[in-house]
Amino acid sequence: MGTSPEVVVIGAGICGIATAYHLAVRRGVSTVTIVDPRPPMTLTSDKSTECYRNWWPTAPMIELMNRSIDLLDALAASSPDAFPMTRQGYLYVTADARRLAEMRRAAERSSRDGAGPLRVHPGDDPYTMSPEAGSEVPSGADLFIDGDALRRAFGFVSQRAVGGIHVRRAGWLDAQRYGTWMLERARDAGARLVRDEVVAIGGTRRVRNAELRGGISLPCDVIVAAPGPLLADVGRLVDLALAVRTETHLKMAFRDHLGVIPRDAPMCIWADPQQIAWSDDEARGLAAMGRDDLVGGLPGGCHFRPEGGPDSRWVLGLWEYGATPVEPTFPIAVDPLYPEVVLRGLSSMVPGLAAYLDRLPEPVVDGGYYTAAPDNMPLVGPAGPDGFVVAGAVSGYGIMASAAVGELVALHVMGDDLPAYAASFLPRRFDDPAYVASLADLGDTGQI
Ligand SMILES: Cc1cc2nc3c(=O)[nH]c(=O)nc-3n(C[C@H](O)[C@H](O)[C@H](O)COP(=O)(O)OP(=O)(O)OC[C@H]3O[C@@H](n4cnc5c(N)ncnc54)[C@H](O)[C@@H]3O)c2cc1C
Repeated sequence: MGTSPEVVVIGAGICGIATAYHLAVRRGVSTVTIVDPRPPMTLTSDKSTECYRNWWPTAPMIELMNRSIDLLDALAASSPDAFPMTRQGYLYVTADARRLAEMRRAAERSSRDGAGPLRVHPGDDPYTMSPEAGSEVPSGADLFIDGDALRRAFGFVSQRAVGGIHVRRAGWLDAQRYGTWMLERARDAGARLVRDEVVAIGGTRRVRNAELRGGISLPCDVIVAAPGPLLADVGRLVDLALAVRTETHLKMAFRDHLGVIPRDAPMCIWADPQQIAWSDDEARGLAAMGRDDLVGGLPGGCHFRPEGGPDSRWVLGLWEYGATPVEPTFPIAVDPLYPEVVLRGLSSMVPGLAAYLDRLPEPVVDGGYYTAAPDNMPLVGPAGPDGFVVAGAVSGYGIMASAAVGELVALHVMGDDLPAYAASFLPRRFDDPAYVASLADLGDTGQI
């Protein structure tokens, strides 16, 4: 692709903005037009929990996230008005000795694949807590192989817990400020934002122009498709069938006015499946509402993190107990029972939260879609006609991956040398029947 291509980016979510930033600011391509009918970052990218981690089950994902966090750290440190990042980590907790053993095996693999050293407690002491912000915390992870050692560090965790793992190159960031910061810099470098929708793409073997609902046609050499949950629709504009599914993921925020959750707590994930202890009356009521789905076994992955600084009381809680593929529709449908189910789920990990079950705190619920490929790895790279580049399927990790995804798209667009991980994310991997067949044995994909 040429040295100064005319680029149209479909979508002003975090992936489209990071792409525009890397092209315009890092590569000096001033001819970048982002097209979106919505205000920037308002479809999915402002619904996220804003967390990041380099702890993933496969080497390409670890390499991608390490690169992305390197870039995020450097951007956050580059100017005082950039965006804050914490480094409080992710804590995965279990009450199941077999799951703890599997956690240990998986952690040893991730450590070997580049996620950093693994320290075991008790044993490899001392364990050091995370400072509130900044990067002077150890890398890698701390594995607690007994519940008492875990509770010495995290006193709010249930007596039932038998261990857990605290991932250290992890935390959260202000994603809105991060996206806005990149967009402002991209615009300063010549990128423009057009409020419209791409409804057709001209050209047969090579893209020629993007046609907008408002009637304008934008001539271009390259089209980057970063339309979030609408990726399959945009693929169809160039007769490209992309293997993606979308799942609803909700999130709730509540004020922890009793101060149950310490403000320096990590993102905490209860790894075990669980069954909620509804009373008989409650179970009958749920059955009468047609909600038997909530009465039986529910999956693992219920999680929370403190939101805001030391003076805030807000906590975010999430649990996708019913994630099945759906067609994306807007506004997203919200389960009215979500806050109660999440709080009940979280109280398995943090019994102190049960104090809220008689009188639920007023919740704020929102959510969006995870858009994912069958292997839960992103789709990044050329596909379909020449000049068409995909930047999506970033599932539940689009904020943390966006810096490396934007950079990788820019490398593809400019025809530059690619990092080793690039091949793992090419959309055409799904054209290989052997690769698709190998997914039948897909283990943990790292998704929460
Ligand atoms: C509840 C929840 C929690 C999450 N937590 C985390 C987390 O902790 N960490 C993390 O890293 N990620 C998290 N994610 C995932 C993350 O939010 C997404 O992966 C990311 O925001 C996707 O960004 P995107 O740019 O691909 O899509 P979007 O943000 O959806 O942006 C796509 C844009 O494309 C536009 N568009 C679509 N079609 C067209 C068209 N034809 N023409 C023009 N524009 C078009 C849309 O209007 C939209 O603005 C979470 C997601 C959810 C829902």
